[in-house]
Amino acid sequence: MERFPRYLTALARANALGDKVSWLFYPGMLQESQDKWWDDFGRRPAAHEGIDICYFRQGKNQFSLAKNAQIPAMDKGLILNRCEDFLGESLVITHEGFDHFSPKVVFVYSHLAIEKDLTPGCLVEKGQIIARVFDTSRKRSRLLPHLHLSCIELMEKTPLDALNWNLFSDRKKINLINPVFI
Ligand SMILES: [Zn+2]
Repeated sequence: MERFPRYLTALARANALGDKVSWLFYPGMLQESQDKWWDDFGRRPAAHEGIDICYFRQGKNQFSLAKNAQIPAMDKGLILNRCEDFLGESLVITHEGFDHFSPKVVFVYSHLAIEKDLTPGCLVEKGQIIARVFDTSRKRSRLLPHLHLSCIELMEKTPLDALNWNLFSDRKKINLINPVFI
């Protein structure tokens, strides 16, 4: 249960948010939530497959991640795929400590503008900037720029290019691990 809080600290550092940042999570941002935290606050089309990271507090003021905020890698890892999601692009990585060379557990960083040279097969270092949050200002959804993070256990050996949202949104084919508790 240490990786997630450590990652939030790394995210704050990567964006020079200062040491006194408290991250804020509304219920709709949490895994398995059925609710939207944006627009009309209605129902999501499907239960949420991960956690959304966006709001934080400094002192008495609340902020959200700036468009183009920098996204670091949680740990050393191997890039398995990059694919589109409904806002931007997703990067699929297997991290050290999670079956590095025969991945059963993958991390999906979503709603991003990914660094161009990061392609499947590339290794990333812990803390390396892998992307920026996707600028959503031209999207109709009125979603703020944010990082969506999923942790997914694969049930069977999967070709790398099939590691995408068709698979990740199919609950019969994958198990979701809550990234908050890793
Ligand atoms: Zn999300």
